[in-house]
Amino acid sequence: MTNDQMKPATIAAQAAGATDNATGGVVPGISLSTTYLRDADYALLRPDNIYGRDANDTVRQAEEVIRQLEGAAASLLFPSGMAAVAAVFRALPSGARVVMQNGIYWGTLKWVRDYCVRRAILLDEIDAADPGALAAACRSSADMVWIETPSNPWLKTVDIAAAAGVAHKAGAVLVVDGTAATPVLTRTLDLGADMVMHSATKALNGHSDVLAGVLSCREPGSAMWREIVTDRHDAGAIIGPFEAWLLMRGMRTLPLRMERMCANAMALAEYLAGHPRIEAVYYPGLVGHQGHEIARRQMQGGYGFLLSALVTGGRERALEVVGRLRLFHRATSLGGVESLVEHRHTIEPHTGIPENLIRLSAGIEDAGDLIADLEQALEG
Ligand SMILES: *Cc1c(COP(=O)(O)O)cnc(C)c1O
Repeated sequence: MTNDQMKPATIAAQAAGATDNATGGVVPGISLSTTYLRDADYALLRPDNIYGRDANDTVRQAEEVIRQLEGAAASLLFPSGMAAVAAVFRALPSGARVVMQNGIYWGTLKWVRDYCVRRAILLDEIDAADPGALAAACRSSADMVWIETPSNPWLKTVDIAAAAGVAHKAGAVLVVDGTAATPVLTRTLDLGADMVMHSATKALNGHSDVLAGVLSCREPGSAMWREIVTDRHDAGAIIGPFEAWLLMRGMRTLPLRMERMCANAMALAEYLAGHPRIEAVYYPGLVGHQGHEIARRQMQGGYGFLLSALVTGGRERALEVVGRLRLFHRATSLGGVESLVEHRHTIEPHTGIPENLIRLSAGIEDAGDLIADLEQALEG
């Protein structure tokens, strides 16, 4: 059985076969060296290792785990999710045209808007979850279409295969931010995307102790991918080996964590949907959700760990509920083993996020305990 035929649980648990050949250890060591030896004839002992900014065995091992989970031809790690986003945009020529989903992760939107102004890149923001709007935006030629599914914090679901179809007709590459799905819940490249990006800070690592980002592609020979590879090396957006090693350790349990987190998120969504003090729940697993049918087709094993809800009674009431929670940590970010709650409007007050929206990231705790915590916070 080749590695590419193995299931995610096997790839992840065994870190795609990485062991420590030097010591015989089951767990690979951390390669910290920034520079590599040459022999008396000045030949490199390992021709693929010259300097730490070029390559590092620990980083390669972590990239290989993601490459196999993603079913990608190549994967590249970055020191944060935003560094991965920036690497993609830096590969575009000045004057390019980008079609981008609106209402996505605020950090991405904010940086991309600024960058596109500086580079004279034409940015069209559209509601990509509306297939008509996406098709209309792709009627004129474009260089790149960027979507995020499920989106953060609205949990909008975009049909990746359909988006790839219209993007390719416009001559554009389709790049998907799959952070809220992970490679375990959605095979983004198999659905037709050219590139997939994840903030590995979130569920890929899963323990809220590493900043990392990753890009994976189907066509490593494409001009855009080669540009990204060169730019990472030359401009030096390199993840440290310790972070890469921690990430690899975290990813060993990714499929297991996803099972529990998806089940918990579903239980929380169903509980909240039936609660009189909740106006609306956004979760792709709920039958009434905007993208439920698409999510059912393009996600496997669950609908993710992220959900949002509108608390009846406005801003004060929402903040009261958040303040009364005892198990959910009040903190930004998502995808960790511990459940988090966030009042998004406090973070991005000018982007139209309702003042009564709370976003939950379901961890791996007991679902009954989490629901009891919500219960006391909503009833109080
Ligand atoms: C967090 C996040 C990012 C940015 O990643 P960092 O690792 O924080 O730089 C990008 N997209 C989504 C959907 C995210 O949740």
